[in-house]
Amino acid sequence: MIFYGTKSTQIGTENLFDKCSNCGTQNSMEMLVFQKYAHVYWIPFFPIGRTGATHCSNCKQVVQNKEFTENLKASYSNLKSGSKTPVWMFSGLALIALLITWGSVVGKQNDKKYAQLIMSAEKGDIYEVKLDYKQYTLLKVDKVLGDTVFVLLNQYETNKSRGLSDIKRKGDQAFIQEPLPMLKTELKTKLEKGEIIGIDRD
Ligand SMILES: [Zn+2]
Repeated sequence: MIFYGTKSTQIGTENLFDKCSNCGTQNSMEMLVFQKYAHVYWIPFFPIGRTGATHCSNCKQVVQNKEFTENLKASYSNLKSGSKTPVWMFSGLALIALLITWGSVVGKQNDKKYAQLIMSAEKGDIYEVKLDYKQYTLLKVDKVLGDTVFVLLNQYETNKSRGLSDIKRKGDQAFIQEPLPMLKTELKTKLEKGEIIGIDRD
């Protein structure tokens, strides 16, 4: 379950010359502007809207912006448009953008590394393979002759890529001892197509 909700923070304040509608004191009221924002696990994501209130320092009466008189409405809208939305309210969005960028950088580095591992294939390399939608298995390099890589297919399959570690734990005897020849370029194409999703080398 994701914990989320809204919070608000004060972004503007101004002393008013108006008389307090409750106690009649002049210069005792303060106008406050609040910025509402959405948060996910307390990380601010984006601003939503603004609210306002007046507070009287004499009688402590608080009036919400929905109940403002025309006069107060004018001061509120002035103060509201003059108050800035703090940038930290976009923290979550910025964090997501960062993670996406980071993910694609790591992804590209992995692709490069895997392409090198394929071109320099060695006996014992294990390829994580996506056969089809929700169908994953392992291939193991049995031997390499020039540009040809002989791979052994694992007899087990899993419907989640995370399940591949279970197959790895089944060990060497889970691979079918019938070497299938594949060209390095063929394997590289599989990598580019996303059919090889990971490579292990001890
Ligand atoms: Zn008052």
